[in-house]
Amino acid sequence: MTLQLEPMPDDWQRALAIVAHPDDLEYGCASAVATWTDAGREVVYLMATRGEAGIDTLDPSAAGPVREREELASAALVGVTSVEFLDHADGVIEYGTALRRDLAAAIRRHRPELLITLNFADTWGGTQWNTPDHRAVGRAVLDAAGDAGNRWIFPDTVAAPWNGVRWIAVAGVDDPTHAVDVTSGLERGVRSLMEHRAYIGALTDEDPEKYARAQIEGFARQEAARFGGRPAVTFRLYPR
Ligand SMILES: [Zn+2]
Repeated sequence: MTLQLEPMPDDWQRALAIVAHPDDLEYGCASAVATWTDAGREVVYLMATRGEAGIDTLDPSAAGPVREREELASAALVGVTSVEFLDHADGVIEYGTALRRDLAAAIRRHRPELLITLNFADTWGGTQWNTPDHRAVGRAVLDAAGDAGNRWIFPDTVAAPWNGVRWIAVAGVDDPTHAVDVTSGLERGVRSLMEHRAYIGALTDEDPEKYARAQIEGFARQEAARFGGRPAVTFRLYPR
């Protein structure tokens, strides 16, 4: 019998999703975000980079603005109107106090109860090596949740300390603990990935809709087995 996942907590009002690149949230998470914003919850996106090194055929100076626009359109589709970009360098984000400080400052500014980030393990599914950016940002998100609450760490941020993060939810992991039923958000999840037209166009010759649908519906159906047969987006939840 497949282990059944717990439903994600829903007694919260504000979430901050922090990832390395435009598109990171659109490979699954966005369907869950759509269901949350439908329920009146507020979700803010924070990207550590503008994804400027993500398109082989476009110079970073041109790719950055394109990817920023694609991310804003993706976010709007799932009810997210606030998208912020830090200017860490795509591909070479360094884990360290500079990154932790930027993330802690954002957590203090937005005062979320839930933080969302992406798989920061060495691999995807045990075989595909993860990127250095995902490893650095995911770990820094968990660390910054604590930093944000300690007024003696990064004491010079504009916003006051915030010790109200109750959970950090990590998407795309091999060992999830919780899930969200995305029946109502799945179609918008597909369309939010399709908004990354320039990125997907450089990635594959496949029709963008076919590609996005296969990705998003495929993940959600695969996870349904451990969530009562319902299409799901899964997370590993770290309570604080
Ligand atoms: Zn990424």
